[in-house]
Amino acid sequence: MNIGLIAHDSKKKLMQNFCIAYKGILAKHTIYATGTTGRLVEEVTNLSINKFLAGPLGGDQQIGAQIEHNQMDLVIFLREPLSPKTHEPDVDSIVRLCDIHNIPLATNLATAELLIKSLDRGDMEWREVYK
Ligand code: PGA
Repeated sequence: MNIGLIAHDSKKKLMQNFCIAYKGILAKHTIYATGTTGRLVEEVTNLSINKFLAGPLGGDQQIGAQIEHNQMDLVIFLREPLSPKTHEPDVDSIVRLCDIHNIPLATNLATAELLIKSLDRGDMEWREVYK
């Protein structure tokens, strides 16, 4: 499965810790991430990550394009909920595209953990059929 990771600055440490905790599961899948998130996760996990541009420089849009092309099976987007970003339209667009294309999306740690465990149990095999 293709997993997309995005974390805003205040959530990057959380994303690193999440990926350390679930490295064993993540390693069985293909991981994509916005530039900085991907680099930081790689540094602490040694997972091989396909990195897009930095989010504000177009990385969010690149992940969005993958969602549009049905090439993303699960997105974990730990976004900053308290202050708007300069690239807020791109942020909203990820959520919108996941809703349009029915892609499982986690925007907080609690949901991210549920989704990653359910992925590992095989609950997302329907994505293979759908593709
Ligand atoms: P980044 O992008 O991982 O390159 O920092 C995340 C974002 O701000 O959308």
